[in-house]
This record gives sequence, structure tokens and C-alpha cells, in this order.
Amino acid sequence: MVDLGALRRNFAGVRRLVGGGVRIWPAVKANAYGHGAVEVVRVLPEADGFCVATVAEAEEIAKLADGRPVLHLGAFHPEDAAGIIAGGFETAVVDVASASLLDGEAGRLGRRVREHLKVDTGMGRVGMPVADVLAAARSMAAMPGLEIAGLMTHFPTSDDADLTFARAQAAVLPGLRDQLSEAVGRPLLLHAANSGAVLGLPEACFDTVRPGIMLYGAFPSPDAARTASLEPVMTLSARIVFIKTVPPGTTVSYGRTWTARRDSRIATVSIGYGDGLPRALSNRGFALVRGAPAPIAGRICMDAAMLDVTDIPDAACGDDAVFWGRQGDAVLRIEDVAAAIDTIPYELTCGVTARVPRVFV
Ligand SMILES: *Cc1c(COP(=O)(O)O)cnc(C)c1O
Repeated sequence: MVDLGALRRNFAGVRRLVGGGVRIWPAVKANAYGHGAVEVVRVLPEADGFCVATVAEAEEIAKLADGRPVLHLGAFHPEDAAGIIAGGFETAVVDVASASLLDGEAGRLGRRVREHLKVDTGMGRVGMPVADVLAAARSMAAMPGLEIAGLMTHFPTSDDADLTFARAQAAVLPGLRDQLSEAVGRPLLLHAANSGAVLGLPEACFDTVRPGIMLYGAFPSPDAARTASLEPVMTLSARIVFIKTVPPGTTVSYGRTWTARRDSRIATVSIGYGDGLPRALSNRGFALVRGAPAPIAGRICMDAAMLDVTDIPDAACGDDAVFWGRQGDAVLRIEDVAAAIDTIPYELTCGVTARVPRVFV
């Protein structure tokens, strides 16, 4: 279940944090972190633009974006240039070579493309070193197919307890933007903030912010600043399809890693790793049944997971089991589920497979 009301309230929380003058471009890559990009874009008419990771993702939401910028965030492959230009999308540009390729393609198509200079201030992934970006911007300014629209960077540690590194990254940006704006003869947008920075680094919110995970109701890390109250958007649930009572000594599922210590009621739920329920939760996590925690018993299978519902005597076939999200007043925070298996909420929501129907409320 995807709670679009919660999504909208989380968006309002971002707006409260950044104030009225800052543009909000939600990250809707990876099908809006598994939630459904089309529906997410549809319910955010107040968003000022959107961020994606591939041309196909940009094309999927292009109509709904309705003239608002759709920004391709990363480096692109040569064969992607035509699609970026034809779709009227904006794109990060990570070096002069890719700018030149884009310019050539724009010329062929008789179009101009808005580009955002991506500077690597410490992420160590893609982008130009700070020392190179001015010269790069000067050569790009001479390319007729390009319109330099912005300067962007990314924070690797904006959700850490120690924000020293992120603050140092942010500190170089305004001066760099001024220099670049002057060099290319137009004011450039400046954007850097992901959720961690929106929550904890107000000085890094600049003109535009690119929040993702916080809109979907999760904090990016246990150390991220708790400056907003985020409501879970995704609830992953499935129904109990079978219940049996077993005597002590009975084992459950592949590898026989769980053994009944007492007379136990074992519920089988029709969900497994084929749906994106991580197998790592085997014998680790629990699900909510009738608002109470039911331990996951034995290994999670492709299409089934077993729960020990011995202590939930009312549990019955047809009951919903919630693996993360909300069940009535009970909430199982996805951050806690992720922490139990050493991953992050992002991986859990993105991992929910196409087999799981997205029910929007
Ligand atoms: C995914 C992404 C974001 C959003 O990050 P969150 O941590 O989900 O807020 C912002 N900027 C870039 C470049 C990204 O790749």
C-alpha cells in the first residue's frame, strides 16, 4: 500500500524546512524508490521539477511533469544524448567530452539542451574537480547547443552525525557559482541538498533541493537530523494463507533453521524474496499481525514466509501481515527493518518487485 496522503504531508515537511523561496525537485528515480513514479508525480503538483536516473524514467513522467524540469542526475551514455534532447529533459554534465557530445546531438536535432555542471566536491562518483570546472564551463559556453542552467554537487555524508565534511563541501559552492555565472554570462541555479542536507544542513539548501527518501517517509540514516516528522508512505503487507499448530521439535522451512520450542502456531504468508522481502530477514525480523509482532520463523522462501503467531491467538487465515509500514495504529518503521539486516530503507523500497501490486490510497 502506498499512502499518497503521507507523501504529500512529507512534501509539506520539506517545504516547511526549506522555506518558500527554494525549489523542490523530488528524486523519483527507480520508480520513485519503488513506490510508483507516475502516481508520485501526479500527487505532487507543488513540486517544481523532478530528478531521475535514466532517460526511460524521464520519459515515463514527462507528460505529468507538464513543463516542469525533469533532470537526468548522473553521467549519461552516448546513446542517451538523443533521448535527453528529444524529450526536452535537463541533464547533469560531468565533463567537457560529454558536453561536446550533447552539443553535437543537439545541433543534429536542431535543439538546445539545459545542462547542470556536476562538480565533484567529495562524493567521488562522477563530476568535475572543483579546480577544473571554470575552464570546463568556458568551453561549454561556446557550444551553441548547450544552455548552462545550473551547478550541482552531491553529499556523501549529509546524513552523518558529524557534518564537518558536508559543511566544507557546501562552503565552496556559492563562490564557485558566482564565478561560473560571471564566466558564462548568466545566473546559474545552485543545488546540492539530498534528504540528509534538507534535514540537517539548511545552509546547503541554496536555490533548489533534491530530496528523495524523506518524501517516502524514511530518514536517510539513524544519525540524520530529526528536524521533520516523516510518515511512512509504503506499507509492505501480504495475507496469511495457511495456519498450523506444530509440536516442539518441528522445524520450519529450507535448511531447518527454526525449531519449535513449544507447541507453536505457524502462519504462512504469501510473500517472499520474489516480492522483495529480503531473505536476510529470515529468523531476524518480525511482521505485524493484528497490531502485534510475529517473529519470522525459518528461511524466507521465494513466494512464502512463515510467522510464529503463537502469542497472537486470534491470528487467522486472511489476516494481513505487515513487514514494514503501518497496521492501524501500529507502525513498523522501515528504518528499523533495514537496520536489523544491515541495509538502508532505500534498498528495501526499491527492492519490492513488479509482482507486488501497488495499491494507492
Ligand atoms: C538519489 C539522489 C538524491 C536524493 O537522495 P536522498 O538521500 O534520497 O534524498 C539527490 N541527489 C542525487 C544526485 C541523487 O542521486
